[in-house]
Amino acid sequence: MIAPTPVKSPTMLAFNNSLAEELGIKLKEQEKIDYFSGNTLPLKSVPIALNYAGHQFGNFVHELGDGRAVLLGEVRSKNTNYDLQLKGSGITQFSRQGDGRSALGPVIREYILSEAMHHLNIPTTRALAAMATGEHVARDTFEPGGILTRVAKSHLRVGTFEYFASRQQWEDVKLLADYSIQRHFPEIRESNNHYLELLKQVASHQSILISKWMSVGFVHGVMNTDNFTISGETIDYGPCAFLDEYHPGKVFSSIDQNGRYAFGNQPSIASWNLASLAGCLIAFIDKDSDKANELATEVLDNFSIETNQRILDLMCEKISLDGSVKENQNLLRQLLKIMMESGSDYTITFRSLSEVLLDQPGKFLEQFKNKDEIGSWLNDWKKALATDEKDLQLIVDQMKSVNPMYIPRNHQVQLVIDAAYNNDFSKMAEMIEVIRRPFEEIDKNSSYAEPPLEEQRIKRTFCGT
Ligand code: AMP
Ligand code: MG
Repeated sequence: MIAPTPVKSPTMLAFNNSLAEELGIKLKEQEKIDYFSGNTLPLKSVPIALNYAGHQFGNFVHELGDGRAVLLGEVRSKNTNYDLQLKGSGITQFSRQGDGRSALGPVIREYILSEAMHHLNIPTTRALAAMATGEHVARDTFEPGGILTRVAKSHLRVGTFEYFASRQQWEDVKLLADYSIQRHFPEIRESNNHYLELLKQVASHQSILISKWMSVGFVHGVMNTDNFTISGETIDYGPCAFLDEYHPGKVFSSIDQNGRYAFGNQPSIASWNLASLAGCLIAFIDKDSDKANELATEVLDNFSIETNQRILDLMCEKISLDGSVKENQNLLRQLLKIMMESGSDYTITFRSLSEVLLDQPGKFLEQFKNKDEIGSWLNDWKKALATDEKDLQLIVDQMKSVNPMYIPRNHQVQLVIDAAYNNDFSKMAEMIEVIRRPFEEIDKNSSYAEPPLEEQRIKRTFCGT
């Protein structure tokens, strides 16, 4: 048991009513403040801090853990257990030199980004509450402190497996694998090779996740194995960012100096992380190590092939084409190449493409330097669409249902945080409402669809820990 450290004067900045309802959490206002600041423990809660290990930027770190978080317990909803975790709740046995606290900026970022991801239909941990603590934390300067209540299908990571495997505690690896199966993939208990199936399930859930990230231009930024979940949920919103202009080599995180976690590298890094998990499970996959290697390698190879195809399918869906057709894949590649050369805004380009079909090409064309080149691409695209045989409005509606208008743009999130640091929380509330309806064009939200001005452009992000 490790109790959260009480804070001076907590205030609730945001509470996720719809999530609370989904989870069956009904609390009075004061109870919410008491529980989600860590000042009072909910009944029966025995908080713990989890230990894990992980590969950070490719280097193995033997000992990591919840250094500024505690797991309050689980709630059960629709036959699924969800972890409730307080993040920024004080020192634990894993805090090392850290203060166990979080600044308010990262709390606000995680609340907004994770809520946006959920409403973009992307699996993610979620935020139930964002609190200001009324205390200050020492970072580069003194900043107001915050606590986030995170909800997750679990906090099991590849790094949790690596913790036990690196210590050769094989019985514990097995226990953890059995627990993961029971918690996340109970259907595979019927299979004749549980541990191979577990690897396949994690691969499949991660494949769905990463391909969705790619389709909306999300750069996670710190895909260390301790930030790579067994459930296939996005976790850790430290240095992440959405692309403004498209470039596959785009990196935001200040600490990712070699671009290991660049936008276009995410599928291959996911495969690398899965290989780490495979290494932990290999002894249980088959007694014959050659056979075990062969089976695990097949899972990893399939992961790469399937993820590649998933990305093509989702990307082609964005331009209303069938991703299994070679010519369509080529059209997509051509578009991305022209976008890269023009520095086109990822979100605006895809969102406005359908308007070309309604004779409103202005916004789309604005994104390109060479109008002849994109004009010729548009002709090829219309041919591939076979527009004369289809109802144009149907195509437009389909495209708008998969190409968001509003994403949590980096500069907008920064404006919200800056306002909050000046005690104005109205922008935060406003932005949370905007990102909850990413696909609907709403007049009053139009400023949130704008790309950053040059001076607003965020070039670097920080973990903020
Ligand atoms: P993260 O960047 O959130 O994945 O954290 C990496 C590691 O640093 C984890 O073991 C965290 O628990 C730890 N950590 C991050 N921030 C703090 C902090 N303020 N106090 C103590 N530990 C921290
Ligand atoms: Mg982390």
